[in-house]
Amino acid sequence: MRPRAIALVLPLTLIAAATPRAGAQQPTARALTETWPEIVKVDGVEILHVQKGVYMLVGGGANVTVQIGDEGVTLVDSGAPGQGEKIVAAVRHLTKKPLRYLVNTSADADNVGGNGAMVKAAGGTNGAAGNGGGTANTGILVMSHENALNRMMKGTPAFPALTGDALPESSFFTPKKDFYANGEAVQILYQPMAHSDGDVMVFFRGSDVISTGDIFRTDSYPVIEAGGTLQGELDALNTILDITVPERNQIGGTRVIPGHGRICNEADVLEYRDMLTIIRDRVRDMVKKDMTLEQVKAAKPMLEYDGIYGTRKDWTGAMFLETAYREIVAANKATPAGGRNGPTPRKP
Ligand SMILES: [Zn+2]
Repeated sequence: MRPRAIALVLPLTLIAAATPRAGAQQPTARALTETWPEIVKVDGVEILHVQKGVYMLVGGGANVTVQIGDEGVTLVDSGAPGQGEKIVAAVRHLTKKPLRYLVNTSADADNVGGNGAMVKAAGGTNGAAGNGGGTANTGILVMSHENALNRMMKGTPAFPALTGDALPESSFFTPKKDFYANGEAVQILYQPMAHSDGDVMVFFRGSDVISTGDIFRTDSYPVIEAGGTLQGELDALNTILDITVPERNQIGGTRVIPGHGRICNEADVLEYRDMLTIIRDRVRDMVKKDMTLEQVKAAKPMLEYDGIYGTRKDWTGAMFLETAYREIVAANKATPAGGRNGPTPRKP
């Protein structure tokens, strides 16, 4: 379901709840209504039970989602380069069953850098036989959107191209792909032009957990790069809100595993979506007034959010604002007056 926007000014409890770590004791309203599991730490990686057969691993790069059951293990993302072995050790703490599936949510180094280690731990790759819930029980099937695969093959200056078994052997360009694992339907949902051009989210339908990759994160503004857009981000966040169902008062129910940060509920995604919508609208109004980037920066349209989301050195609030500004200016030019992002009509 998609609830209506919450108030423009965040209540203090939400700001407190937005701190990156969800420890056992959280001095917020949430602590009174929910019990969070104790955190188990293996080789520096924290293991958190999320819901039913789904766990979250923290500390080896991006969050790694682990679904376990009788058939084996389904993973969403594999951690940063050099962290794969630690991720495997944490998974092995949960189960000795075979690693069957790995879905990469994008081509980011901290999400796919552990691919090779996963394939090695699984005893190799599992091609067509394992696809779509096949019967083979050796090897792992690595999946991603085609755009993400292309980026992994190309590499970046900071993250060299992946090769061989570390690359997804099953890529797709359809809006959806699904398979059945450990007694539940698993849906892979492509989100065009969000954080990148190859983002997917993974919805574990029976466990009622959605793993979002870097489309959604609690530790910073969305990192918009590699073909991503702010509008695509908003669309993707609305897709999450369409899927999530709260138990009561927007608490409980569907769990959301972000690319980075703590386990979330629908209310957290709603807050993030509203934050981005407010920023988008403010910047759009400024663009309509023909304000330059420097003028927009000076007007501080993200002032009340920078303390929470603008603290990263490698993706500052200013970098996010600049990206949003350029996109909105381009949209403004592309759609004439009256369009979605259209400027007010001007005299010739
Ligand atoms: Zn990431």
